[in-house]
Amino acid sequence: MQILKERILKDGKCFPGGILKVDSFINHQMDPVLMEAMAEEFVKRFEGSGINKILTVEASGIAPAIMVGYLMKLPVVFAKKNKPSTMENMLVTEVFSFTKNKTYTVCASKDYISEGDKILFIDDFLANGNAGLGMIDLVKQAGAEMAGMGFLIEKEFQGGAVKLRNEGVRVESLAVIESLDNCTITLK
Ligand code: 5GP
Repeated sequence: MQILKERILKDGKCFPGGILKVDSFINHQMDPVLMEAMAEEFVKRFEGSGINKILTVEASGIAPAIMVGYLMKLPVVFAKKNKPSTMENMLVTEVFSFTKNKTYTVCASKDYISEGDKILFIDDFLANGNAGLGMIDLVKQAGAEMAGMGFLIEKEFQGGAVKLRNEGVRVESLAVIESLDNCTITLK
């Protein structure tokens, strides 16, 4: 998606270890006009997929997910990174975060992801695919179907998309980064 690519090149900042910082328009300060355009692109790409619910994981997936849910007029569920003591019918999975170098528990209530649901997962980044695999696991536990996964930015060199597609899931990324070697952003 051209406007996102241009924005990444203009405002994205590269950090050692293959980390891209997009804090000025996605992850901290947010650009709602860009967010709306990105959500419209997901709506186009997943049109006709029979999706009835959007799923994301807190925190940075929530903004794009709610924008997609708003446009599709569908409910949005965000998986939580801490187990709330009051949550009933909990679905739980473990996700390793390479940016934080730790494994955390992610959960969602079975009240909101249920058998028969066709889920579209939305997140900001796709890197190694660990968060995505965890979400596929949650959706499977619920007896629902992961009908598609949409990422704003895919870091192709970390191989996450291959892993998710090997699970039989359709993956769409709006901007694909080939390399961040030498702290230079190379887009596909
Ligand atoms: P994965 O689970 O695919 O390895 O990593 C995806 C998650 O890690 C995303 O939800 C995102 O929050 C975070 N992440 C991965 N790579 C980056 C990055 O380069 N920059 C930022 N800001 N977050 C990232």
